[in-house]
Amino acid sequence: MAGKAFFIDTSLCTGCRGCQVACKQWNGLPGTETKNWGSFQNPKDLSVYTYKLVRFNEELGQDNKPVWYFFPDQCRHCLEPPCKEMADAQIKGGIVIDEATGAVIYTEKLKQAKAKEITDACPFNIPRVDQKTGLMAKCTMCVDRVKGGMLPACVKTCATGAMNFGDREKMVEMAKKRLEEVKAKYPKAQVTGLEDLRVFYLLVDEPKKYHEFALLPAEQLGINRKMALRRLGRELKGLARQMVVGDTASV
Ligand code: SF4
Ligand code: SF4
Ligand code: SF4
Repeated sequence: MAGKAFFIDTSLCTGCRGCQVACKQWNGLPGTETKNWGSFQNPKDLSVYTYKLVRFNEELGQDNKPVWYFFPDQCRHCLEPPCKEMADAQIKGGIVIDEATGAVIYTEKLKQAKAKEITDACPFNIPRVDQKTGLMAKCTMCVDRVKGGMLPACVKTCATGAMNFGDREKMVEMAKKRLEEVKAKYPKAQVTGLEDLRVFYLLVDEPKKYHEFALLPAEQLGINRKMALRRLGRELKGLARQMVVGDTASV
């Protein structure tokens, strides 16, 4: 599979949030007022002003000492994106896939689609809607930078080597190699997304300790990722057809 991909090695992530800030800077996104909600994670969630969020979770380890789990959350740039399936049924060109990189890009046309249907279609709870303008937003893979020969801003700024970006095949190789390296120390380690996403995470413990959407819910039930995404795609197509029929009937 050609195009680009990210390999996010959470075993090297220190939770410094440099990637989160770099994303805001490059995309010209403003800071927002936030409240202390009892976590070092800030802000509490993704938004139209936060395309990348380093999620924090704290658990007690076997020796009763606290263990941090950091999860730099962003759009996974699915190879067959369910959000695009849903958008295509409503408005052509609302979501496009960049040919060179495989980035899933939201366009202005998406304003004409039903935003809730698009957000509900994403299995990773990524897109957000600006309630004032109706615009939807998420990570762009920094295609503007990548096409100019630069790394995505979040990758460029990461000082620990946790964020990596490049040709998809190379990222797959890098992820598999790193998994082999950490397996002895972390027997539960796994890499997610190798089959059908453009963002792979190396997790060294149970996915739910990182984030509710670190894995597709269906995968946690033992259904593999490809089957889960295909099933979701079929359900969405059916739902989109029903919506079109419903809309026509109500005109
Ligand atoms: S910049 Fe790197 S180390 Fe810092 S939070 Fe982001 S991924 Fe983790
Ligand atoms: S992660 Fe969600 S928003 Fe991103 S491409 Fe996949 S379905 Fe779309
Ligand atoms: S690729 Fe660009 S838009 Fe996406 S999270 Fe990184 S900095 Fe933000």
